[in-house]
Amino acid sequence: MFKYDQCNDCGDCFVQCQYADFTREKAVQEIQSLKRGENAAILKQCITCMACNEYCPTGANPYDLILQLHEEKKIHFVEPGVAEFIEETLTSVPNDIIQGDPDKPALNLCVMGHAYPPNMTESKMFAGLTLVRGSDYFSRAVFLHTGMEGKVRTHTQEYIDNLTKLNKQEIIFVHDDCYTMVVRKAPEYGITVPFKAVHIIEYMLGYLKEHNSFIIKLNRRIAYQRPCISRYTPEKEPYVDELFEIIGAERVARKHDRKNALCCAFGLRETDPERGSQILKKNLDDALDYGAEAMVFLCPGCYWLTSEVCEERGLAAIFITDLCRMALSELPFSSRPWEAA
Ligand code: SF4
Ligand code: SF4
Repeated sequence: MFKYDQCNDCGDCFVQCQYADFTREKAVQEIQSLKRGENAAILKQCITCMACNEYCPTGANPYDLILQLHEEKKIHFVEPGVAEFIEETLTSVPNDIIQGDPDKPALNLCVMGHAYPPNMTESKMFAGLTLVRGSDYFSRAVFLHTGMEGKVRTHTQEYIDNLTKLNKQEIIFVHDDCYTMVVRKAPEYGITVPFKAVHIIEYMLGYLKEHNSFIIKLNRRIAYQRPCISRYTPEKEPYVDELFEIIGAERVARKHDRKNALCCAFGLRETDPERGSQILKKNLDDALDYGAEAMVFLCPGCYWLTSEVCEERGLAAIFITDLCRMALSELPFSSRPWEAA
């Protein structure tokens, strides 16, 4: 939610935007124009990367204002027909619960089964967890990228209710989208969350610390593809660093990581292929320039839609759970490690 009283018109949000080219003066005009509810130029230039929420030094959430105006003015980042197709597809995934140890948490896999690496949940890290997947456990946060927050908001209570019915004190979220909905958006919408949400990074870090003696350090240089939605929960960034450290992966200090990360641009590659491809090229060039051997993904969507291009450029594409499995000697260090195993 945009916090009008916290915005001081400094313009930092849009000066730092990596997809617009505004002077400070123009950036200030843009935010002022948005606050008046006008058709500011940024509304069309924005690629919905959410980064300005993190750039804002006062926590005013300028992206949330863009999102609100995108919806009001029907400026959709994807065509409504495409959004409806995504919604129909992702809301018709059958539910499936594989009961684990009653005293252990549930692992929410939502609707991204097609995007995760094969056999992901066979890892020792996930033994005994109750595995949950299907449309009832899908947060719809993807529509925060499409100027359609209404689709998200109206479903959130039902989403939290479905998770609550699992009757677990703790639920682990693999998809950063789903985690963000529970820890940020649901409270913002006034919805009570009666269980503890645990992020997959935090969970795996805990497991690896407890099983430190089984880790064989990877000694690999890794580029991290930070998901756009992580802009809502930057407080978990130290866990990402600690996870890399414990498994011996060097998170290369490239230009486009952390606050300066680039969107994987998969949506843009559909709507504006030239611009989307340029952003992706810039991102991969950066990883290679800094000597990365692999690109590691936290978002299953980014992983699914970017792996092939990484491989074409000579970068192994690895999902974060598989990277940890490699350090536990469950998989070889490789792109598509299930094929090489
Ligand atoms: S969401 Fe991203 S692209 Fe849009 S204005 Fe903010 S920083 Fe720029
Ligand atoms: S939203 Fe934040 S960064 Fe943008 S002008 Fe207001 S205070 Fe500055």
